[in-house]
Order: sequence, then C-alpha cells, then structure tokens
Amino acid sequence: MELGLVGKNAVVIASSKGLGEAIARQLVNEGANVTITSRDTEKLEGVKADILRETGKEIFAVPCDITNADDIKQLIGAVKERFGSIDVLVNNAGGPPGGKFEEFDDEAWQKAFELNLLSYVRIIREALPLMKDNGGKIINIASSSIKIPISGLILSNVFRLGIVGLTKTLAEELAPYKILINTVAPGTIATDRITHLNNMRAENQGISVNEVEERGKAAIPLGRYGEPEEFAKVVTFLVSEANSYMTGSSYYVDGGAVKAI
Ligand code: NAP
Repeated sequence: MELGLVGKNAVVIASSKGLGEAIARQLVNEGANVTITSRDTEKLEGVKADILRETGKEIFAVPCDITNADDIKQLIGAVKERFGSIDVLVNNAGGPPGGKFEEFDDEAWQKAFELNLLSYVRIIREALPLMKDNGGKIINIASSSIKIPISGLILSNVFRLGIVGLTKTLAEELAPYKILINTVAPGTIATDRITHLNNMRAENQGISVNEVEERGKAAIPLGRYGEPEEFAKVVTFLVSEANSYMTGSSYYVDGGAVKAI
C-alpha cells in the first residue's frame, strides 16, 4: 500500500518522548519532513540526534509550551518559514494530573483545559492557513476515556470528550478544504505516562506496582500493554494518502480493552 508521505510536511506536537516521539519516528521512516516539539529543548535535541544517527534524516525541532499562545504562534511561524505549508498535524499533549473531583480547584481545572483542549484549538487555528490550500490530515490524540471514563482521572475524562466534539465538528467545517480530521484514543500504551499512573494507583490502593500492572493487563483482551510503535502505525495510516475517506471518527488502539459498542 502506497502511503504517499514522502516529502509531506508533518508537525507532531508533544513529541520529545512517548506516543508523540513514536509517531514522529514513523513519519520520518515514511519520508515525511517532520517537526517535533515540546517544552524541553535538551530532550528534543536528543531525539533529533538519535533520529539522524539511526536514519540519516534531519528533522526540525522547535521548543514550545503548548499552554502558551505565543509559543504556539512562534512554533507554527517557524514551520511556515522552514517548510511553507503543513500537510499533517498531530495534536498531542502531556496528561493532566490524576485525582478525584474534590481534589481539584478552579486553577487545576483551568490548567487541564489549557493543556488538553485549548492547546488543540489554538494549534489548529494557527495551522489552518498553512493547510487550506493543499488539504491535509489532522489527528487529535485523546484517550480511551472518551468511551469509558477512567476512575481517578476526572480531568482527563472531561477534557478528552471536548476533543471528540472538536474533531467531529471540524470534520464538516474542514471537508471543503479536503482536510480530514480524526481522534485516536490510546488504551494502555507503554510510556512514562502509564508508569506514572501505575505508581499513583499502587500508592492509592496500597498494592505493588507489579500488581497494578497484572490487573491492568488482565482487563485487556490481548493481555498486554501496547507498544508506542503500534499506536504510531495507526496514526500513520490515518494521516497517509491511503486514508481518503475516513474523517470525524474516533479510533481506539487498546488491545480490545474498551468493551462498549
Ligand atoms: P508521555 O510519555 O508523558 O509524553 C508526554 C509528552 O507531552 C512529552 O513529550 C512532553 O514533553 C509533552 N508535553 C507535556 N506538557 C507539554 C506542554 N505544556 N507543552 C508541550 N509539550 C508538552 O505521554 P504519552 O503516553 O506519550 O501520552 C500522550 C498523551 O496521550 C497524553 O495526554 C496522555 O495522557 C494520553 N494518553 C496516553 C495513554 C497511553 O497509554 N500512553 C493512554 C491514554 C491517554 P516535555 O516534557 O519535553 O515538554
């Protein structure tokens, strides 16, 4: 199958590690011109150097805190200057803190809104002028909590659903520009975020991290966590030329964990 990503300009947000980094690597392997970004310049430069060493391909690394509107403008401005247009935009972010309703005040809710929903809105708004002429693909990464809320993750449960509404609405508004947009929802993919959440659950439940992991895996029909590369391949298909008719939908990469129909 021809993915048609060679020479395409791709921006992957929150890509210094985890799912974002895996997607960036996959897109580099498919021949795209990839921009990576996160708050941490050192980590970005490390990923850039690793990719250059492993593939011989140069990527563009731009620091950006996606909770800061000016940073986002500078990021997209830098991409415009370097590549002129954007064909592929992958929105991603760090996860909000875990916890229950009574643990969070207005400031915590505002921060989670800015990190996990408003950032996607702002990035799409800035990127659209660079996408409208040629069409393209947008992916919004969310969580399997868009179908089944996850206990103890209220901030995530609330704002990820906003991503689904954003995606569905934009699918219609952007269709005239041949921009296809979808939500991709990870179940449990082995990254630092999952390590962090498992440590939190072990402490809250008074059991070992190993026990948390075993229970978690037992609830997944495929019996294991996913690998970031498995997640990245699904995103890569959706942003490729091979996807010409899927837009406005949510796709789960979860080993069968979401049992809702
Ligand atoms: P991760 O390993 O913790 O990576 C998070 C990435 O976000 C890092 O590159 C981090 O880079 C970046 N980031 C955090 N805050 C940022 C900010 N303000 N501005 C710019 N970049 C920022 O997480 P992950 O597992 O890849 O997950 C990605 C997203 O999917 C998260 O929202 C997570 O909650 C969600 N999710 C993941 C899973 C899973 O199974 N892994 C499941 C459900 C949902 P810097 O620290 O360098 O800025």
